[in-house]
Amino acid sequence: MATEAAPARPVGPTRLVYFDDMWALRSAATVLAVHQEGGRVVVVLDATVFYPQGGGQPADTGAISGAGAKFLVEDVRAKDGVVFHYGRFEGAGEGCGHGFKEGESVSLEVDAERRSLNSRLHSAGHLLDICVSNVGLSYLEPGKGYHFPDGPFVEYKGVIPPDQIQDKQNELEREAKRLISEGAKVLASVFPYEEAAKLCGGSLPSYISKDSTPRIVKFGEYPGGACGGTHVVDISIINSLKVTNIRVKKGLTKVSYSISP
Ligand SMILES: [Zn+2]
Repeated sequence: MATEAAPARPVGPTRLVYFDDMWALRSAATVLAVHQEGGRVVVVLDATVFYPQGGGQPADTGAISGAGAKFLVEDVRAKDGVVFHYGRFEGAGEGCGHGFKEGESVSLEVDAERRSLNSRLHSAGHLLDICVSNVGLSYLEPGKGYHFPDGPFVEYKGVIPPDQIQDKQNELEREAKRLISEGAKVLASVFPYEEAAKLCGGSLPSYISKDSTPRIVKFGEYPGGACGGTHVVDISIINSLKVTNIRVKKGLTKVSYSISP
C-alpha cells in the first residue's frame, strides 16, 4: 500500500522505544498503516524510537527506511497512545512505487543532532528545578516547562520577592554551573506509584493517577520528577546553562534559560 485513506481498522498503541531506552537513536518496526492527512503522509508503526512532541519537548525528525522506500519524518505526534509520523517519501511525485506495504519491516533513525539538543534543553529545565531548591526557593512549585530552542523556560507556582530576583538569578546560574561541572548520572525508568513517589521526595503531582506506573527521571541523588521526555546521559553533557531572565507575574515565577549550542 502506498498512500490511501484513513486506516480501515483502528491500530493499537505504539510501543515507545525511547520510554525505556531514551538514548537509542535507531530501532526496527513493522508498518501498521500509511495514509494521507491534510496533504501530508502519515505512517503508523507498532513501535517507534521517534519522540512525539509533548511534555514541553519538540518532536524528533529523521528517516524510516523500508525495502523500496525511504520516508523522511518531519513531525511526530501522539494521540491516545498511537504515534503518527508525518512527512514525505523521498522521491515521491516522480511516479509510482514509492511507499511502504502494511506489515513491512522498516528501520528507523532519528536525527541525532536535533535529539541531542532537545535532550540537553529538557535536562537543563529539570536541572533548574534542582537549582531552585538548592538556592533556598524550595517553596516554588514546578509547573509548566517549555524546552524548545526558541526561548526555553520553566515556570513555578509562587513568587520570588522583587528585591531578591537579581540575586537569585545569579545564584541559580552559579548553582547550575556547579552541578554541571560535578556531573551526575541520569536515570529514567517506570516505577510502581509508591516507589515513584518516594524517588520524587515523597509525593507526586495530583494529575498523576495513583493506579499508574509513572516514568521518573532522576539526576544523581537529587529527587526525581515525573517525565516522559528524553534526557542526557549525564548532566555534565548540558555543558553550560545561562539563566537569561526571571519574571514574576500573577503568582507565577518564570525562569528563562539558554544552553550553549
Ligand atoms: Zn521533563
